[in-house]
Amino acid sequence: MAANGQSPKLLCDGMLAGLARWLRAAGYDTGLAPAGAVDRAVLDTCRTQSRILVTRDRHLAAHAGRGIEVVLLTADGLDAQSGELSAAVCLNWNRAPFTRCLLDNTPLHEATPDQRMRLPPRACGLPGPFRACPACGRVYWPGSHVWRMQARLEQWQARRRPWPGD
Ligand SMILES: [Zn+2]
Repeated sequence: MAANGQSPKLLCDGMLAGLARWLRAAGYDTGLAPAGAVDRAVLDTCRTQSRILVTRDRHLAAHAGRGIEVVLLTADGLDAQSGELSAAVCLNWNRAPFTRCLLDNTPLHEATPDQRMRLPPRACGLPGPFRACPACGRVYWPGSHVWRMQARLEQWQARRRPWPGD
């Protein structure tokens, strides 16, 4: 939880698309600045949507100004970046796993019977949950890919430094 009692919303710069996916996998509302976005537009989005800017771009971080919380990442690789981000923002990597679309950040709905029909046969016998993205139509089910991602999120959560009030 952030200081205001709400889950933090984030915006990753275009160089951090991988990390943005993982933040969405953990359940965080995470925007992604399009590659080549103008700094001013990125900062405006953070300001108007109250998003924490997560960036590797020193220049962008330096221009954020007051009213925008910025986390400047210097680490390479997802594991190191997640640790660096966890040290700056109180995150729970198990917050609400797989409740947002990894591609476009839209909150997922329960898959409709129609959408479940489109699952590969090997997925149909799984216990669920089966969720679908109302924006892009992608269906998510608890297969091996999701299990692998969830195991990594649990590792990140386990090695995270505790925050006061955890
Ligand atoms: Zn989607």
